Parts: sequence; structure tokens; C-alpha cells
Amino acid sequence: MPLHKITRAGEPGAADVYATESADQRVPKYRLPEHTSSAQAIYNLVHDEMLLDGNSRQNLATFCTTWVEPEAHRLMDESIDKNMIDKDEYPQTAEIENRCVHMIADLWHAPGARKTVGCSTTGSSEACMLGGLALKWQWRKRRIAAGKSYDKPNFVCGPVQVCWAKFARYFDVEIREVPLRGDALGLRPEDMRHYCDENTIGVVATLGVTFTGIYEPVAALALALDEIQSDSGINIPIHVDAASGGFIAPFIQQDLEWDFRIERVKSISASGHKYGLAPLGVGWVIWRDSAELPEELIFNVDYLGGNMPTFALNFSRPGGQIIAQYYDFLRLGRDGYTRIQQACADTAQWLGAEIAKLGPLELVYDGKGALPAVCYKLKDGKDHGFTLYDLSERMRMRGWLIASYPLPAKRSTTIIQRILIRHGVSRDLAQLLLNDLGRALEHLKVNPVAHSSASPTFHH
Ligand SMILES: *Cc1c(COP(=O)(O)O)cnc(C)c1O
Repeated sequence: MPLHKITRAGEPGAADVYATESADQRVPKYRLPEHTSSAQAIYNLVHDEMLLDGNSRQNLATFCTTWVEPEAHRLMDESIDKNMIDKDEYPQTAEIENRCVHMIADLWHAPGARKTVGCSTTGSSEACMLGGLALKWQWRKRRIAAGKSYDKPNFVCGPVQVCWAKFARYFDVEIREVPLRGDALGLRPEDMRHYCDENTIGVVATLGVTFTGIYEPVAALALALDEIQSDSGINIPIHVDAASGGFIAPFIQQDLEWDFRIERVKSISASGHKYGLAPLGVGWVIWRDSAELPEELIFNVDYLGGNMPTFALNFSRPGGQIIAQYYDFLRLGRDGYTRIQQACADTAQWLGAEIAKLGPLELVYDGKGALPAVCYKLKDGKDHGFTLYDLSERMRMRGWLIASYPLPAKRSTTIIQRILIRHGVSRDLAQLLLNDLGRALEHLKVNPVAHSSASPTFHH
């Protein structure tokens, strides 16, 4: 039968895609349409709707990968049908996940990187949950062994990403988020110690605080916990949430000790899809050694003829991101990652210096020593005639997505903007951004915004 006979009446195969019935009429949005339509017409329709989204490459608020090599696109396409949980059916995908775990363990200086345990996740959020659960189980075992109560677990942290608030609520652990004192942007040892007690399952240190991009001082926090242990006997482990920093520090801040070189660091999580450069949908969590991951959390599932140990919140999950992560590791090597991250850091520092010259803006983080990012606020003590929220809106007219938001607890009267420089944000693109920033500030100076300082809304 000729092909045009099996297409719907009124939709001959040769018609222009914008002249078919489905392009001509509005498709139902909240119920299934009655009939089948041509793939091409519907593809165009969906594709066109996506035009209304922001352009991810200009989204300077995201930490996540927005540019991948064509070869990674191809591998993603080739593995669209691979379920990473079917380890028996896709043993090479499982093996590749395993290799990535050990490469990352080695990158983070795990003492027995070849033997330790870890797994891939959907992102840092799941990785943090798994890290937190292991801490909770280990703490409970210690409490039971000591004949003590185990009904009031807590963890201590600085300004954490929202996944830790979720962990606290979903898994019934009190979150003790130490408020920022003075000019602090992260957890400080002297502030932390008052929040720790015998029910503390762990301290979460963040390498690359979401709000500003700074690193919390993991080594100094560990030292303070050593002192607590020698004073009171309470032994509190550290989990490092290195969502972004986990793939920055090993390359461009090699001398910084934040990882398993510190004995007290028992687990580390990171997002492969942030500075790990993999496409969206992969994170990693690694334990210092297998003894830190309680056996009880590992499920040995008999499935389709195989026995597989798993520790995950999901069951089915796409395997492509893991394969693309492996591609990145092999393709770039230490050398490639170092060059990319250094180029980002250089651009961030250059942009910071240029932003400071624009006049009304004052740097909060200048891009030096932590993530390739800059953070700034409006200079204090002056009515500028506009807020950073107005500036965000103005920048959006040129497609730039730059978030404005308040600093966390106790410093929430300070509104900041944060720009992340990541793979694909070249110096040239940053220059274009800077030009637009200068023009936007000039415009706002000449055209002050009425009531702009009245009540900035939170839209992080
Ligand atoms: C992004 C981020 C997370 C959450 O990571 P996802 O990969 O988006 O789930 C957790 N912690 C920190 C510090 C982050 O920056």
C-alpha cells in the first residue's frame, strides 16, 4: 500500500508540516487526543513549544552541563534503551559504572580506591540521601552497641542545598543548619561546635556552597571535630557534599585537602552532570572504604537470573549518562579536565574584576579559590533606583538568565546575584554578557524603577 494511503485523511505525507491538520488546529493540552497524527507534524509542534524555554547556554544560574560533544550525544542516543539496573543483561554498562566509581574514588584519594564502594545516582540529591542514610545507620549501630537511645538523630551543616532539608524530612533526622554570623558565607568550625552532640550522625560540609560558590573549610571542620572527640569522646564523621567542587578541586586546587585525605571524611557525593561534564541525570557517591556503608542498606536482589547488590532510591534508570560520563573521563583525562576547569576559573576571575569596575556592584565572591563563579551585590548605603531583581529582568531581555536571591538565614537582607562559568561559557561569551550588563546598568541608572526597593520577591 502506498504510504500516503495510511496517513490520516487531510494529512497527506507530502503536505507542508505547518499545513497539516495537527498544525492547523490546537491540540488538546490536558487530555489525550483521540487520533494519531503524523510524527513530523507533532515533532515540529513540540519542538516549537520548547522555543519558549530559556536558552540553556545563556542560563548562568545553572551548575549543570549545557554543552556536550557530538560524540557524547551519539553515545546517549545509542544507549537510550539501556536500563542501568539490568546489570545482568547489560554487564558492560554495569562494568563502566564500576570503573567510574573507582576512577572517582582515586580522584578523591580514597585509601583503597580500587576496593572501596560507591555508586551512580540520578544526581547529587540522591547521592546525598544515600550518604546521609549510611551516616544514620552507622550512628544507630554505635548507639545500640553503647546501650543508648537512638530516636533523636541530627546532622549539622552550614547553608546547604535543599536536598538536605529533604533528607531531614523524608528520613526523620533533625537538620541543624548553623546560621551565618558576621560576614560568613559558609559553616565555620567555631560556630559548628555548639551544634554537635552525641546524637549528631554527621557534619555535612559543602564544597561549592550553592548560594555563592565558596568552599567550606573541610580540614578545619575536621580538626574541630577531632577536638570534640578528645574532649567528650563523641566521634562525628563528615560527609562532603561536593556537588560542584568534587570535579573542580581535584583539577585546579590540588593542594586543597578536602577529600579522603582527611581521615574523618567518610563519604563524598558529587553531580556528574555539573562540573563532571556529563549530560543531565548522573551523580556519584563514594565511601571511604566498604566498612562505612552498612550492609543492611545494600539490597541483594535476585532479578532476571542474576544477583545484584544495589543501593539506590530508584530502580529503573537510564544508563546513557553513566556511559557519557565514562566517555568524558577517557576522552579528557586529568589534563583535559584541568584545562577546561582552569579556563572557566580564569574567565570567572576576569569577569569578576570587570564587574567590579562597572560602579554600582560589589563582589561577594571574586571567583578565586573555589568554584568558577562570581557573586556580587549592589553597593551598600545608596539608593540605586533599582534592585538586582530589576537587573535580572533587564538581562533577560537579551536572553541571559541570572538569578537574584537573598543570602541564607541571618544574612537574608543581603540580595546577591551569582554567575556560573562552566564548560561552553567562553571568554568571548562572557565579554558579550559583560557588555549587556554594562548597558543594563546604564539603562537602569537613567530609568530608575518605581517602588523597586519596596518588596523584592524571592525567586531563586
Ligand atoms: C546542585 C547541588 C545539589 C543537588 O544536586 P542535583 O545533582 O541537582 O540533584 C546538592 N548539593 C549542592 C551543594 C549542589 O550544588
